[in-house]
Amino acid sequence: MPGEARWAELAANLADVRERIAAATAAAGRPTGDVELVVVTKFFPASDVRLLAGLGVVDVGENRHQEAEAKAADCTGLDLRWHYIGGLQSNKAAAVAAYADVVESVDRLKLVDALDKGAAGRAVDVLLQVSLDPPDREGRAGADPVDLPELAAAVDGATHLRLRGLMAVAPLGEDPAAAFERLAGIRNDFLVAHPDATVLSAGMSGDLEQAIAAGATHVRVGSAVLGTRRTLK
Ligand SMILES: *Cc1c(COP(=O)(O)O)cnc(C)c1O
Repeated sequence: MPGEARWAELAANLADVRERIAAATAAAGRPTGDVELVVVTKFFPASDVRLLAGLGVVDVGENRHQEAEAKAADCTGLDLRWHYIGGLQSNKAAAVAAYADVVESVDRLKLVDALDKGAAGRAVDVLLQVSLDPPDREGRAGADPVDLPELAAAVDGATHLRLRGLMAVAPLGEDPAAAFERLAGIRNDFLVAHPDATVLSAGMSGDLEQAIAAGATHVRVGSAVLGTRRTLK
């Protein structure tokens, strides 16, 4: 697609998504601007990221290290905040912390040290990913809610990491409103011990309204802005 047509497509999609966010924010009785948009650009080229930056997008999300690293390098000089939202291997964590401004998928202790080492000299914001799946679900991503205090303490003890809040994905096959209601309860408990860690990253193209109703401060939206991804996930 020629650049101009892609620009128009992204601009229209972005306007739609921003309208959905504004409507959901108002419906939840929350102030305008209370919810921030992270555009998930995984599987789409750096040229799209540049167009998005021109359309006022600041926060972009990626879920695979090699792709994210290359795209961030390609977009040097643009005023972007890179969110790493994918599964993280501990042997890649240090490399991720070298370009990511926010790592949203911290779900085990082992990652904290590696991120802190890799962040050396930069400040990296951290969200703890909490699992809303049943404990026996296969391929479960995210920490068990009972493990959050220990993880949070480790991040607090790290030199270059700043604990900002929680992230979650609604489980497949469950009503997202019910899952996000559980998440809101987990977050309330978490805020008692960590009152400054107010970020709640939840909600994607299909369930951002339910997430905003449950208190999300950040929604991560991919396909509703960029279109359908060719590959699964
Ligand atoms: C891909 C992805 C998203 C965006 O999903 P869409 O349905 O395309 O909006 C959000 N969060 C995570 C963790 C993702 O991997």
